[in-house]
Amino acid sequence: MFHVKIKKKMIFVIATVSLITGCTLKNLQSQAKHQVDFFAMDTYMTITAYGTDGKSPLNQAKNEIKRVEREFSVTEENSTTAKLNAAGEDGIEVPEEYMELTKKALDVTEKTGGAFDLTIYPVLKLWGFTTGEYLVPNKVELRDALALTGFQKIQKDEENCRIALKGNAQVDFGGIAKGYAADRALEVLKKAGVSSAIVNLGGNVATLGTKPDGSLWSVAIRDPQTTDQYMGVLRVKDRAVVTSGGYERYFIDENGEKWCHIIDPSDGYPVKNDLLSVTIVNRESTTADALSTAMYVLGSEKAMEYWEKNGEFEMILLTTDGGVIATEGLKNLFSLMENYEGREIKFIQSEGAE
Ligand code: ADP
Ligand code: MG
Repeated sequence: MFHVKIKKKMIFVIATVSLITGCTLKNLQSQAKHQVDFFAMDTYMTITAYGTDGKSPLNQAKNEIKRVEREFSVTEENSTTAKLNAAGEDGIEVPEEYMELTKKALDVTEKTGGAFDLTIYPVLKLWGFTTGEYLVPNKVELRDALALTGFQKIQKDEENCRIALKGNAQVDFGGIAKGYAADRALEVLKKAGVSSAIVNLGGNVATLGTKPDGSLWSVAIRDPQTTDQYMGVLRVKDRAVVTSGGYERYFIDENGEKWCHIIDPSDGYPVKNDLLSVTIVNRESTTADALSTAMYVLGSEKAMEYWEKNGEFEMILLTTDGGVIATEGLKNLFSLMENYEGREIKFIQSEGAE
């Protein structure tokens, strides 16, 4: 018996050796992993790519993310956003890219009945989310700040590539810029010949292709109630996975009440509903980012309705009562971690599906 075991082991070792010597140098190179970590857009970012000669494509992608930040940031003095916000009603000429992202954001705004709103900035400022000097505003302050908002105040002249903001409105791309940066980063990597990569821009994850061995990427979904534990794992390829929730950026007032940085444009209050987090799985990361913010504003019922009507994406909703709701396309791709196996995932189907 013992003898047989040894023999088997030897065969295994020999097979492994022949496999390695059979490898071409190119194959070995395609497994090479490179990673860059940096801080941008107020968060930690990681780019990981396989099969590159060195870090050059990753640094190009990092530079692209920083360029997007300089272009769209509401706080960078020379950004187009800062210039637009300071321009008054005549507006300014904007780069084509700026017009395109504005249009994408407005598209989500329109489809979600205003849940995603680029003009929410004055309200965000009032609550102190832009400075860290938090306060719960009174009704008059809130009414005045809300009067400055409204996506109708964004006027675009596509022919001349100009945007103007009416009535002292101000825009902020905080709910969509990271998603856009992730798409741009993958585009840069692709152009540099990379076919296997994953970027994580502070929880906005986007993947290019599969892992170098052909298997799917695993993206863990945080438990919003403990935040240091992962509740589930998604397996994806060529998809973005973007999560919005009230658990990452918030403050607690003197009465112990918690206020998060996602604002409901209908009343100017930080979102408080039955959702803890929303994860969107979509081919494009830009839309996933805007949608994750918008679905979080809508709450579970309306988010599910929205998905049923418009759902060309997949979604996971974690609710305050411990519920886990996922769209049917994730049936074989989303599973709960061992500690959470007691919970049930409720899969929802779109109308017309069996
Ligand atoms: P995170 O930035 O943490 O990934 P989100 O993608 O949900 O989370 O974006 C939240 C940011 O979006 C806020 O910090 C703010 O800049 C902006 N924002 C807040 N509420 C809204 C809203 N209703 N519509 C559009 N943008 C919003
Ligand atoms: Mg977002």
